[in-house]
Amino acid sequence: MMQEHIPVFKPAIGIDTLKAVTDAFNIGWLGMGSLTKEFEERLAAFLGLKDRYVVATNTGTSALHVGLLVAGVGPGDEVITPAHNFVADHQAIIACGAEPVLCDVRDDDLGIDCDKAEELISPKTKAIIPLHYAGIPCHLAEVYALAKKYSLRVVDDATHAFGTTVDGKLIGSFGDIACFSFDPVKIITSIDGGAVITPHADDVQKLHQFRLLGIDKDTSERYKNSRAWEYDVVSAGHRYHLTNIMASIGLSQIQRVNEFITNRRAYCRFYSELLKPVRGVRTPASDFSNVSPFIYYIRVPAPKRAGLIEHLKGKGIATGIHFVPAHRFSFLKRFRCGSMAVTEQIAEELVTLPLHSFMLVETIQRIAGEIGDFFAMHP
Ligand SMILES: *Cc1c(COP(=O)(O)O)cnc(C)c1O
Repeated sequence: MMQEHIPVFKPAIGIDTLKAVTDAFNIGWLGMGSLTKEFEERLAAFLGLKDRYVVATNTGTSALHVGLLVAGVGPGDEVITPAHNFVADHQAIIACGAEPVLCDVRDDDLGIDCDKAEELISPKTKAIIPLHYAGIPCHLAEVYALAKKYSLRVVDDATHAFGTTVDGKLIGSFGDIACFSFDPVKIITSIDGGAVITPHADDVQKLHQFRLLGIDKDTSERYKNSRAWEYDVVSAGHRYHLTNIMASIGLSQIQRVNEFITNRRAYCRFYSELLKPVRGVRTPASDFSNVSPFIYYIRVPAPKRAGLIEHLKGKGIATGIHFVPAHRFSFLKRFRCGSMAVTEQIAEELVTLPLHSFMLVETIQRIAGEIGDFFAMHP
């Protein structure tokens, strides 16, 4: 019997989303509007924000860019972030006219190694971008301790961690600036989209200006599905706003996010339970109880990885690799970078397995079974 192909990612888009999009088209206002505002309000409600503000953007990358800008990052500054991160972060730093400084990660949670980050701090260091890889929180208290010691801003890359908690508090609901992504593969999607969370009321107007071409007062009009025809342009700015149509998709998704998180947690635990006994496989050091899982990854011995990926592919099981480390890219290798011992190792060991918001027990058993078979054949 032909087995069904299993993709790495699979969006959970239902009839609810189609209805939401149809309703959004029927408003007759396609651009940024009332649904953008409503999406921001729903994000704030989900995160339980108190005295914190949400500005939605058209991508997670643009959220990082304007998040860095509002944190004061500019030409001549350095921003420390893991090399083991998506290139969106490094490009967002460069887009500010600043330079990324590439740091190693810890071997346990694959989050930024704060001891190594401290060694990279220079008089130019302005901010640090931690990432919660796969949705598993990094050592955030250490990041904030370092930021405090050296007066750095924290721009939290929370793109993998929408719904993850630290000490019972949702990431984004505390601390300095946080950025989320709602791109096609993230836990909830608005096809493309993002959001910046800031604790500073003063930042909101600046973020609105950075988001919409430096225009000073159009946002409040657009939130009423209308436009201001007389306005001033008060700063540099980009075209980074989230449209009503995309927001309608995000709104339909956020209604279901708790179900998505609950399911994905259960699937991750099941993977770990099945794969822990497999010799050659290292599962994530998390019980996922506080995690909103974005991806499920395993580590395998570097010489075995290509063979495993090929074996799974032959069985109709797609895999991914998150990420190629930044210092290996031709454009990024010029930037300052510390020792990369862990990054170099995991870059050869990581394999991302399929994780969807709706999976069958049999699917996970089949994937884990194939991994077990591979290592039985290649001990
Ligand atoms: C998804 C992602 C981003 C950027 O988000 P987009 O919405 O795709 O622009 C940034 N950093 C990391 C680690 C990501 O996974």
